[in-house]
Amino acid sequence: MTDRDSQDRLLLLIPTTSYRVADFLDAAHRLDVAVAVGSNQRHVLEAFADGRTVTIDFQDSEKGVREICVYARDHPLSAVLGVDEATTVLASKASKALGLAHNAPESVEATANKFRFRTVLANSGLLTPPFSLLTVDADPERAAREATYPCVLKPLMLSASRGVIRADDPDQFITAFHRITRILEQPDVVTLGDTAKHILIEGYVAGREVALEGLLDGGRLKVLALFDKPDPLEGPFFEETIYVTPSRLSKSWQSRVMDATVQAVAALGLKDGPIHAELRLNDQGPWVIEVGARSIGGLCARALRFGAGISLEELILSHVLGLPIETMAREDKATGVMMIPIPQAGVLESVGGLEAARRISGVDGVTITIPMGQEVVPLPEGNKYLGFIFARGDSPEAVEAALRKSHHCLRFRIDPGAETE
Ligand code: ADP
Ligand code: CA
Repeated sequence: MTDRDSQDRLLLLIPTTSYRVADFLDAAHRLDVAVAVGSNQRHVLEAFADGRTVTIDFQDSEKGVREICVYARDHPLSAVLGVDEATTVLASKASKALGLAHNAPESVEATANKFRFRTVLANSGLLTPPFSLLTVDADPERAAREATYPCVLKPLMLSASRGVIRADDPDQFITAFHRITRILEQPDVVTLGDTAKHILIEGYVAGREVALEGLLDGGRLKVLALFDKPDPLEGPFFEETIYVTPSRLSKSWQSRVMDATVQAVAALGLKDGPIHAELRLNDQGPWVIEVGARSIGGLCARALRFGAGISLEELILSHVLGLPIETMAREDKATGVMMIPIPQAGVLESVGGLEAARRISGVDGVTITIPMGQEVVPLPEGNKYLGFIFARGDSPEAVEAALRKSHHCLRFRIDPGAETE
């Protein structure tokens, strides 16, 4: 083939709905590594040169693996990397088929299915809430009678808290059950097949929440950042807003968080690459809510810089390609990001106060990620944010205050009655 490369390349698997293509491609460019993008729809890829893009089936992983293997025949690959739950599973299967370093597909699959995740953790010695699995055609009234309260109902494989609902009593349980069932019937979800026919019920774990961003190397965990989530997440829906690092937790709590994450990762059998873990902390100890075999979502990674200004994506690409990494130490400043929640359903007409929001001291950037005129859907049905606010400062308190102040400047005009075609 004429376009056979002398340099091996990295294949990035990125869904069309991901925010992260540009940041990963930037990182590849800065590292001067050859990268190709595999995605599930042709049109998003047209901007890239031929041979640097490939359409891959993300739904049917056997077919996806075959497509990646065919691509790799003409374009030798040295690594395959996914960015979200679905693509990390495919990446591990494709890497296995190609004889490249990989996490075991079963390990990655357990991070992409909340019931399997709970089942693995239940035997790990970690604190685990009671949990059970329902099918969408179960009798919700009976399940509601049998449940213990408060509990959380959730789909097995969605993200960004889509469809995650707390219930304090049987009435709320039944309402939540029907609401999730409708989400599972939406066109983008129904294609997920059998996993979209189940709902997981978990005991509600009270407590404050943190997120740990880490990198595994031969099973050893390097913590890249520990984020506090200072807004209470008590339900009924679990809207993520502010992430701030360094954590204000005591050193002893920080090491308990790290130990629990190490234990969860070991139970899952994950060995290599980025992880993003979420934990809740209360007087019983740390509870692992979720572990992803991927890095932090949305544009949140932009809050992190390492060494002399290296991005999280650069660290990850360097790691998977075995390039030297000078330092994994995060910069000295406190930093944070706010995922801007969608306050109501409708069509986004305008965003006011952007200039003022950007002028707040400590704010490094405000990015609106939804185009004007687009329909916006709040939780629990939606899975997007209006945008992201980034801030840096001398202390986590200062960063949190800057994010809140900046958010207060923003005025979103959403027309609830407007129809999209
Ligand atoms: P997703 O993959 O959509 O992020 P999660 O399982 O991580 O789904 O749930 C989203 C959020 O809902 C969590 O960050 C947490 O705040 C809350 N949550 C989920 N499960 C529980 C639980 N068992 N107890 C308390 N809060 C929970
Ligand atoms: Ca989560």
